[in-house]
Amino acid sequence: MYRTNNCGELNINFVNKEVKLSGWVQKIRNLGGMTFIDLRDKYGITQLVFDIETNENLCEKARKLGREYVISVEGKVAERSNKNKKIFTGEIEIIVNKLIILNASETPPFTIEDKTDGGDELRMKYRYLDLRRNVNQKNLILRHKMAFEVRKYLNNLNFVDIETPVLIKSTPEGARDFVVPSRMNKGEFYALPQSPQIFKQLLMIAGYDRYYQIVKCFRDEDLRADRQLEFTQIDCEMSFVEQEDVLEAFEGMAKHLFKKIKNFDYKKKFLQLTYEDAINFYGTDKPDLRFGMKIKNLTEIAKNKNFEVFNNSEFIAGISVEKSANYSRKNLDKLTKFVRKPQIGAKGLVYVKYNEDGSFKSSVDKFYDKKDLSNWAENMNAKKGDLLLILFGEKNHTLNALSELRLEMGERMGLRDNNKFEPLWVVDFPLLEWKEEDKRYNAMHHPFTSPKKEDIHLLDTDASKVRANAYDLVINGVEIGGGSIRIFDKNLQAKMFKLLGFTKEKAENQFGFLMNAFKYGAPPHGGCAFGFDRWVALFADVKSIKDVIAFPKNNSGKDLMINTPSEIEDEQLKELFLQKI
Ligand code: ASP
Repeated sequence: MYRTNNCGELNINFVNKEVKLSGWVQKIRNLGGMTFIDLRDKYGITQLVFDIETNENLCEKARKLGREYVISVEGKVAERSNKNKKIFTGEIEIIVNKLIILNASETPPFTIEDKTDGGDELRMKYRYLDLRRNVNQKNLILRHKMAFEVRKYLNNLNFVDIETPVLIKSTPEGARDFVVPSRMNKGEFYALPQSPQIFKQLLMIAGYDRYYQIVKCFRDEDLRADRQLEFTQIDCEMSFVEQEDVLEAFEGMAKHLFKKIKNFDYKKKFLQLTYEDAINFYGTDKPDLRFGMKIKNLTEIAKNKNFEVFNNSEFIAGISVEKSANYSRKNLDKLTKFVRKPQIGAKGLVYVKYNEDGSFKSSVDKFYDKKDLSNWAENMNAKKGDLLLILFGEKNHTLNALSELRLEMGERMGLRDNNKFEPLWVVDFPLLEWKEEDKRYNAMHHPFTSPKKEDIHLLDTDASKVRANAYDLVINGVEIGGGSIRIFDKNLQAKMFKLLGFTKEKAENQFGFLMNAFKYGAPPHGGCAFGFDRWVALFADVKSIKDVIAFPKNNSGKDLMINTPSEIEDEQLKELFLQKI
């Protein structure tokens, strides 16, 4: 037997008990004739003590141990004179009488501490050591708990967990596929699923009524903080549902997770904001509602006053920042620099200070008088003491930049409190978006999303105006998930493929099996999928989803630990009918 207890469970109630513990050496301290060792396992840290007076050999042996040695000890629990109230085991220590070295360790390349000295690359190369760190363990255990609660919630609602294949055919999520050459079928390839979308729809046609899966998806896209090549979705589908049914089921799941994981009771019904309002008020389809600062359109009232910059702008709008009229010149310069960054792309920033005494000071005083500026302030619901920040230019561009500026100001003002959660559904997305490069429409969600009944007539005349039965769940400005009610009529589906520029043959080749299945009694159905990594990262309060994935890829798509991707043998290439170029 290696242990009677773990390293996180002994306290004052166990004094005088004879115990056996096993774990890793976290730290060794020699103080006079005493040697103290912090012994660590998944459950915590327990202090071991060796006294040179009582057992010289044992103490000498302990002094020779190194960091990360794996040891097993026997001894007696004793009350500590120097107590550490911060940890559960901090009131006791183990007076050791037997020490077994189970395995030696080389000195690890970085310290196994929360605040480690190891850089990103080094930690990824030795990820198994990195994962020993408490911060990482905490995140992975949180991930496990969330998955467990998701399953519990969905099982209670009769959802059935069904696995879908990984070696499939191109899926319709709009990213690049990963492909796998087939050895048995010369010159042919599988694609890895960007999502199980088609299979879950087929499962509805197969009569399973409610499906879910916590499943790996693969998209060959450039990596960012919230993107990995392989990521995990909570993927769901339901039969005989309308949009409200789906939203209700998954609002329940979100509330269940808030409660069970964050001990946060979110009682209200989630706000539903149309896509159009989200863009107009917040400049983005994933607004952070932890704070206000809505965008206000000033285009009409700010034009035609000799200020050529505005007169030549398609769109002028701003946000009003509370109690910030005293913003310094230096800070305003910094903000101007911020909005001009290429990734934000505003041409410049106009500010208006609505001072406490009711006066105005602006960067456009040459062109606008007090009456004009007070008119702007009134339009923006600004109060004395507020600072108006205004951007201008092409409409979509400007809205986008305003969204970034709003988030920046929220951050600066400390309004993006990570202990607060503000969820919402964004609904009524456009069905299609025009792709100028390809001169055709793309599905905004995916080609199986149903148009709103009342908009179907526009499909032939003004397709860009058609709204979809599609929805996204957004929490604190993070797109946590999305889905739609699906088309279940084969004629409408065929029409959709046509609109998306598929020839009959191509639609048949790629999705023929689905169209065929639609001939055999497809029920109305809909569903959604949630980015599990993103959700865990949000609850763990970390910036990158890498921190909640055991073995993530780096930003170049590499796993530095197992050194992949890597070249393969010529023999293997030959077998797969592939050639090096
Ligand atoms: N398959 C979709 C996605 O991955 C989600 C859905 O429509 O259910 O975004």
